Amino acid sequence: MPKTHRCREIVLLPLLLILGMIAWAALHHPPGGTLNDWSYLASVPAPLVLQAHEEGKLISPGAWADILALRSTLPRNCGPLVAQLKEGMKFTGLNWAGIAKSDAKTVAYRRTLLLKYPVFQIGAYTFPVNGRHWYEDTFGAGREGGKRRHEGTDIFGSEGTPIVSACSGKIERLGWNRLGGERVGVRGDDGNYYYYAHLQKISPGLQRGQRVARGETLGTMGHTGDALTTPDHLHFGIEIPDGHWINPYQFLRVWEENS
Ligand SMILES: [Zn+2]
Repeated sequence: MPKTHRCREIVLLPLLLILGMIAWAALHHPPGGTLNDWSYLASVPAPLVLQAHEEGKLISPGAWADILALRSTLPRNCGPLVAQLKEGMKFTGLNWAGIAKSDAKTVAYRRTLLLKYPVFQIGAYTFPVNGRHWYEDTFGAGREGGKRRHEGTDIFGSEGTPIVSACSGKIERLGWNRLGGERVGVRGDDGNYYYYAHLQKISPGLQRGQRVARGETLGTMGHTGDALTTPDHLHFGIEIPDGHWINPYQFLRVWEENS
């Protein structure tokens, strides 16, 4: 082999190796965001989301995300920035005078999350119980005498109330398990796993691998599995792609108003 060819190979091989490593990392990165990202989204209070939608409506279709990122990150000193948005300034043209650079960076990052993951967008998700209901925030509460933590929200109602899919996706698990009883697991198109447990009955004809639309009936409310002795309720859980369960409570309160 001529010398020049070998030289080219010495340069090309490590380059290909590096490119391969980058491609591998990109393919194996969870598509649905990190725990940090989702912890932020799950922590935004629903009333603040609804307020941002009200304020944003008067400005432009995406302005709610600008306002929400500002209000949730800089609760005390976002006033002048929100005022600029209301005067018609674009987010990218805002004057950040008096705001620390790191805070401005956090606002910008959170705004991209709000636009990328549509949990707070109007009409993107549906409240999973179609009927009279009540619920509170019990995420993280002890279960079985502290052996487990509660990894979702319990939505109470009467037996037989329709349970619907909060988002579009694909049925990943279906049928009986010890804790969940009759349960349905949907892999949402957003990458998250949506878990509906203690159903009285799963909709007949539902099959694993099948696509479901947002708002499609999955079954009816019951108290199966470890809910046998508790009042009828839906246990609703959200697991992000890296395996962490996140608190659905604030999302539910927004979907209830927006779906
Ligand atoms: Zn529960």
